[in-house]
Amino acid sequence: MTRVPRLSAKLQGFGTTIFAEMTALAVETGAVNLGQGFPDTDGPPEVLEAARAAIAEGQNQYPPAIGVAPLRHAIAAHQHRFYGIELDPDTEVLVTAGATEAIAAAMFALLDSGDEVVVLEPMYDSYAASVAMAGGVLRPVLLEPPRYELDPDRLRRAITARTRVILLNTPHNPTGAVLDDEAMAEVARLAIEHDLIVVSDEVYEHITFDGRSHRPIATFDGMAERTVTISSGGKTFDTTGWKIGWCSGPRDLIAAVRTAKQFLTFAGGGPFQMGIAAGLSLPDEYFTGLANRLQDRRDRLVAGLTATGLEVYVPAGTYFVTADIRPLREDGDGVAFCRELPHRCGVVAIPNAVFYDPAHREDVRSLVRFAFCKRPELIDLAVERLASLTSMSPSP
Ligand code: PMP
Ligand code: GLN
Repeated sequence: MTRVPRLSAKLQGFGTTIFAEMTALAVETGAVNLGQGFPDTDGPPEVLEAARAAIAEGQNQYPPAIGVAPLRHAIAAHQHRFYGIELDPDTEVLVTAGATEAIAAAMFALLDSGDEVVVLEPMYDSYAASVAMAGGVLRPVLLEPPRYELDPDRLRRAITARTRVILLNTPHNPTGAVLDDEAMAEVARLAIEHDLIVVSDEVYEHITFDGRSHRPIATFDGMAERTVTISSGGKTFDTTGWKIGWCSGPRDLIAAVRTAKQFLTFAGGGPFQMGIAAGLSLPDEYFTGLANRLQDRRDRLVAGLTATGLEVYVPAGTYFVTADIRPLREDGDGVAFCRELPHRCGVVAIPNAVFYDPAHREDVRSLVRFAFCKRPELIDLAVERLASLTSMSPSP
């Protein structure tokens, strides 16, 4: 990565996010964008209408920093309906500018300089940057294909006397893994034994497949008092551009995150908060419908990629599937593959290497992430285009 002039030492190496780079390339080339994970259709009409109504009714000034009351109540009711978690909407729920802000605010709030954060690797790209900005140190625990299961010994070895937080993510981006109860219980056991806080990113909570369901780590014995649970309306209601996220947990942890959040954005997206409040109140069928729709799309993309000869790791949840591109590119250079793909065949994807610590990138260079949160005809078009590539040799 090139050095960015004037950028502080702690942010050197982060450059421009891969999502920005690849979406710009998709726009420039007119390629099918299976890179950045955003749906290409609008969310439920009730959600869109509630935001429109809030604008029309004049809810256009700063909302309260903790979020508008209808959304905080809807979040508490959602956690109770799906997981049996009881929350006080005034003190145990905080609305944020997307899950991204909740993650950053949690790191700023909870870490002192040099504190360590144990994180599953590969990891969503904002984790490393948020930990770095907060002065923390990342301790990755590698998940390996094909199943990307959490190895309890690796987790145990990553914890030291400096560890303060386990930053968990399930369903997991980019692998699509959903941690099973046994792995979750092990995370809980170690968190309690070492008196750690768990920050749990659950933005894909409603996107699990093949009969699996999501269980928040906060529901495991002894965990409610040490967990900040994070989610977002973006994935659940096809509104990624609204950036309405939230966190919930015990009063002391939420007060800490709120303190940091006040000075990041203070508040944001008032009318959109009303839209997400309407979404969270939709009947159960909406949520199962979302998972079923995405499962069909996963199956479509997995079948298509497999037919082109790629080795595909079938995800248990999320928007994403990982494939090994060596059959299409002998040298297995996933970064070069993704940079060339839009020009060669009009498809955009993301090299998985960007989700890894630089020390591990070489080991996963041939893995590429494709998003299937797109209309079926677009998935088919992307597969057709990929199939036209019999083999990509390295650029001269
Ligand atoms: N966490 C994960 C695992 C994600 O994939 C994303 C991307 N949407 C986010 C957090 C960020 O969510 P938001 O868009 O609500 O900030
Ligand atoms: N979560 C989305 C993904 O993984 C991207 C969000 C972003 O652009 N930062 O594709």
